[in-house]
Amino acid sequence: MSDFASTVSSIYTQALGVIEAVEPRIAAATRAELADQRGSLKLIASENYASLPVLMTMGTWLSDKYAEGTVGHRFYAGCQNVDTVESVAAEHARELFGAEYAYAQPHSGIDANLVAYWSILAHRVESPALAKLGAKTVNDLTEADWETLRHSFAEQRVMGMSLDVGGHLTHGFRPNISGKMFHQRSYGTNPTTQLIDYDKLLADAREFKPLIIVAGYSAYPRRVNFAKMREIADAVGATLFVDMAHFAGLVAGKVFTGEEDPVPYADVVATTTHKSLRGPRGGLVLATKEYAPSVDRGCPMVLGGPLGHVMAAKAVALAEARQPSFQTYAQAVADNAKTLAEGLLRRGVTLVTGGTDNHLVLLDVGSFGLTGRQAESALLDSGIVTNRNSVPNDPNGAWYTTGVRIGTPALTSRGFGAADFDRVAELITEVLRATTPVATAAGAPGKARYSLADGVADRTMAAAGELLDTHPLYPGLEL
Ligand SMILES: *Cc1c(COP(=O)(O)O)cnc(C)c1O
Repeated sequence: MSDFASTVSSIYTQALGVIEAVEPRIAAATRAELADQRGSLKLIASENYASLPVLMTMGTWLSDKYAEGTVGHRFYAGCQNVDTVESVAAEHARELFGAEYAYAQPHSGIDANLVAYWSILAHRVESPALAKLGAKTVNDLTEADWETLRHSFAEQRVMGMSLDVGGHLTHGFRPNISGKMFHQRSYGTNPTTQLIDYDKLLADAREFKPLIIVAGYSAYPRRVNFAKMREIADAVGATLFVDMAHFAGLVAGKVFTGEEDPVPYADVVATTTHKSLRGPRGGLVLATKEYAPSVDRGCPMVLGGPLGHVMAAKAVALAEARQPSFQTYAQAVADNAKTLAEGLLRRGVTLVTGGTDNHLVLLDVGSFGLTGRQAESALLDSGIVTNRNSVPNDPNGAWYTTGVRIGTPALTSRGFGAADFDRVAELITEVLRATTPVATAAGAPGKARYSLADGVADRTMAAAGELLDTHPLYPGLEL
């Protein structure tokens, strides 16, 4: 065991002992979570395992400091250490992504998107209105002018990728606040190729005239051409906002370069830090110089006080992502996704778009006669953690769905390689073949109930266990 792992083991053992004395249920849940993380084949495309240095950085007194505002310009006294933490995180983010400006405060991906939206509204709607009225800040406006400005926020339009082809709720859909803020129109994919239809997007954008075009996804297994997105945005005078929450690790790891790298093309880029980027749970916004002053107003415009301990962990994770080993990791994530997709295709599984060229694979389980929910549950019974997801024009709707989304970032962090992922493809196919839907009481085909052939769950769990034992999570951490 390395000295580091051994030291960390004793720190966590003692810390959990102290926590146990205060609230034993929390200590127990924390231990149980480690066991669960170690013991399941985690294929959830949005999850990962942060390094021990990243995890440990979060457990400190940096959490205790209020630091609303920006670096060097806080609403509280004594923020010099949080200033250091935030500056270092932003510096790493700028260098890593080649961005003109970075904002490390957002608490999550959704918060990062909200900062992006409101900074775009501030820059493109509020500032021109203030200039026209000769006012310096919103506080200088009369009640009537302010009312007019408030209403003009709600008149703005946004275009985002349709949910059923892999878009995200925060891209202007009604259940999310973005859909309550904006008029929204979605863009989709070509029904035959299942790839983004850029020509149709351009034609629709010309008609709809959005203020913002959002590019990015959470369940689209292909790369996006951001040069084309920029052209479309320019053609209609829209701001290009890219939400790279899912694939930031592939950008950081230089797998997505040239026209596949959003940073040189977008006005504003938002991301999570905990998905393929493998950092702490949190968000990040990148922007051009032009948008930087508005993004900098994120707290207190949209966000509550920054989480100093999490920004510190972002800085550590971003420093890790600047190491050459992270590029090796990111390339392996993409290579493993290809192997996984090919393994599934070879065994007769239908994949949306026919494959992948990023970190995720979307199975269409309709050919097994299953709903996404049945497939997800049968796989979980067998020790394989996935999540159900819509497929384009999903016949089963957004709740039951017909798809299962899987991704390679987490298992690649454990060291899974090509042979392991081919075995994973084999296990998934065996479980799907052994699962049959169970009819409802009325005799109609059920969407939720299913039965799994005898012995399959146990056999699969044992096989998954062998793979997991070969690639231990946090080797040397004895808890
Ligand atoms: C995950 C995700 C988010 C939200 O991230 P949270 O940290 O859960 O708030 C936003 N956008 C996209 C595209 C995502 O995949």
